[in-house]
Amino acid sequence: MKVGVLALQGDVEEHEHAFKAAAKELGLTIEVVRVRRTEQLSDVRAIVIPGGESTTIGSLANRVKLLDALKERIIDGLPTLGTCAGAIFMAREVKDSVVGETGQPILGVMDIAIVRNAFGRQRDSFEVDLNVDGFGTLRAVFIRAPAIVKVWGDTKPLAKLRYPRVGEVIVAAQENAMLATAFHPELTTTAMHKYLLEIARGKA
Ligand code: GLN
Repeated sequence: MKVGVLALQGDVEEHEHAFKAAAKELGLTIEVVRVRRTEQLSDVRAIVIPGGESTTIGSLANRVKLLDALKERIIDGLPTLGTCAGAIFMAREVKDSVVGETGQPILGVMDIAIVRNAFGRQRDSFEVDLNVDGFGTLRAVFIRAPAIVKVWGDTKPLAKLRYPRVGEVIVAAQENAMLATAFHPELTTTAMHKYLLEIARGKA
């Protein structure tokens, strides 16, 4: 089975490792494709949109015409995990905690509203043990993380976090075969990549 990591910018390698480790644990053989061109999308059965810088990922995706093709496949049901910048890229509504509306290119495929850099800047990065519905307790690393401030439609919150000044916000959510996390599961666990592979196999 072929799976993809959108490889325009961000922590692509970490997701590749997490996918491979997840496949090994499930006894599956997978090929991980670094997706940089539209054609590479056609035969992947799941995709990860990594963390990094969402404005860069968005404008590069636009430039290489991947944005619309990816959007189409996700709407069509392609199992997708977006972490941090990836979650921002998937959201229908995006704001920045400082500058407000960003007008950045987004996929806009998931019924979530997200605030970029909600926990402050780099020095406000942190780790916590987080209870995630369906996944148990995960070690969650937040790096210039966004917060999901609203979900609607079929989207379900999977994890919440209470943080000084920010209050209680959603940090993981699911809408059908789409998963979005404000943190970086690829750094600490294979659980989410395993789940994505299981959806791709039709077993979740
Ligand atoms: N702050 C970044 C953004 O807005 C996301 C950070 C991350 O992916 N670790 O895109």
